[in-house]
Amino acid sequence: MSTPFVVAVDGPAGTGKSSATKRIADLLNLIHVDTGALYRGVAYLCFEAGFTADFDESDHAAISKIAEKTKFEFKRVKDRNPKNRLFVNGKDVTSMIRTPEMSMMASRISAIPGVRSALKGLQRTLGLQAPSILEGRDIGTVIFPDAPIKFFLTASIDERAKRRLAELEAQDSDTISFEELKEQIRIRDEGDSNRAIAPLKKAPDAIEIDTTSYTLDQVVKLMAEQIRTVQGQLPKKDQG
Ligand code: C5P
Repeated sequence: MSTPFVVAVDGPAGTGKSSATKRIADLLNLIHVDTGALYRGVAYLCFEAGFTADFDESDHAAISKIAEKTKFEFKRVKDRNPKNRLFVNGKDVTSMIRTPEMSMMASRISAIPGVRSALKGLQRTLGLQAPSILEGRDIGTVIFPDAPIKFFLTASIDERAKRRLAELEAQDSDTISFEELKEQIRIRDEGDSNRAIAPLKKAPDAIEIDTTSYTLDQVVKLMAEQIRTVQGQLPKKDQG
């Protein structure tokens, strides 16, 4: 059996990765895999188990165990928004994992080697089921270094904080100011980019797009054109 077609999309928070990859998945009939949601799911279970965001190295083994033992499922649920929902150990956590606290916890636990290795196989499995588009921080560098097309999205920090704030407002959970959010994003960027294992960085063969002054439609159009071109160049059996 040939490997299904995989699109790898990486970049820091607020660059438009999620919005663009969801739209492209619908447009090009690809499975959308939000790998950040998996780290957020583990963060949720860590809070539930009593850990706080100031955990230290002595907690790494217990947190890795949580990641190893978790059963993750993405399921489409009709009449819910969003339809594509994450279940951890059978519980729908979709609406609980998008808070700023969860973002910070996800970023901290994602630096633990045991957590990353627990989630690596699952991300490959999800991507290999069918033609897919995966978004995250290390998709093009670690999870699918062999992906036939990779993108790395960037945007100015002010624009990213503005977009995140608008998302939180849309969820009625805008309990954080613009400046606080900007500071959180800066801390997350620093942690994600400087961790020892699978740091956030552009794969040498990734197409970089600075989305600061683009609309979502423009980003989707640009990416979809590149994906179609690469798909067209692949042997028929690898086109997805
Ligand atoms: O993409 P999202 O903001 O939901 O990701 C939450 C956190 O999960 C990121 O800040 C990052 O630390 C971590 N993450 C990661 N590798 C991925 C996806 C997310 O380390 N592939």
